[in-house]
Amino acid sequence: RAKQKGRNAWECFTSDLNDEVSSRMALRNDLQEAIEAENFELHYQPLLNAADGSVAGFEALVRWKHPVRGYLSPGLFIPLAEDTGQIGPISEWVLRRACRDMCLLAVQGYGHHRVSVNLSPLQFHRPNFMTNLQQALLETGLAPDYLELELTEGILMNDTATAIATLHKLRDMGVEVSIDDFGTGYSSLSYLKQLPIGKIKIDRSFIRDVTTNPHDSAIVQGIISMAHHLGLEVVAEGIEERDQRDFLAEHGCDVFQGFYFARPMPLDGLKRYMIEQHQASPDSPNPPAASDR
Ligand code: C2E
Ligand code: MG
Ligand code: MG
Ligand code: MG
Repeated sequence: RAKQKGRNAWECFTSDLNDEVSSRMALRNDLQEAIEAENFELHYQPLLNAADGSVAGFEALVRWKHPVRGYLSPGLFIPLAEDTGQIGPISEWVLRRACRDMCLLAVQGYGHHRVSVNLSPLQFHRPNFMTNLQQALLETGLAPDYLELELTEGILMNDTATAIATLHKLRDMGVEVSIDDFGTGYSSLSYLKQLPIGKIKIDRSFIRDVTTNPHDSAIVQGIISMAHHLGLEVVAEGIEERDQRDFLAEHGCDVFQGFYFARPMPLDGLKRYMIEQHQASPDSPNPPAASDR
């Protein structure tokens, strides 16, 4: 930005590089302001039990409310935040907000629901991770059984011994753990077996062509059967079509998630969804205080 457009190839080249660097810098500064102003929002996507269509929980997905660019999806700023260390305060905010929102839903008569929060590797490996987590639960009043953490396979690959010890502590506390984007990492059967986890979420990339691509359908069937033999529950993410849902139901998938059922939505939208689709009868459908904070 500081650099003027160059007149020759060299200057063009350096100025492109500078543009990239400076736009990252600008984004980083914007992100810092967003952290201070808490300019984030959680959207919630329902997870549904295959057996009866009831709500199995909600996944919390963070959005950045950017003053100029509007809602920014996590793919656009979480990787940057991981590089800069800004992921720490963002994660803290996400965790607390998710716990708080679940308590609000319960208090307002929408029922008790479990919330899944995505964890960054950095967060999971921080020494004070468990302390922060316990504090967030205590401060918000959410019972640990209503919290689920989604980890990716990568988190568990390095420093496996410490990771497994942390997973045991979580399990003892009653916090559920799932492996997100399953199948995209390097998990082996023997490795899965040693992990004290409750469920796996089959990555969306396998679901997309599950009804048309014989390889994908074989992989998905294999994952489901393996997971069930290990006593794990199976979630399929990214279900967009009825045929995909039918295939997964037929092959014993336990929980469904995807645009076919519901998109991620802000808390107010989630409340309406619960009333319209799941017969929730809250005490006060639109409490003024909760929505504008
Ligand atoms: P994820 O955990 O695998 O989350 C699912 C993503 O798939 C979400 O994208 C969701 O909107 C999208 N999705 C759900 N159903 C469908 C569908 O039927 N079709 C398609 N095409 N997409 C679907 P989103 O919200 O953009 O999040 C992207 C990723 O960002 C997440 O992937 C997660 O890894 C990460 N993320 C989100 N929130 C957080 C957070 O609070 N902390 C951290 N560390 N990462 C987060
Ligand atoms: Mg996830
Ligand atoms: Mg996922
Ligand atoms: Mg995924």
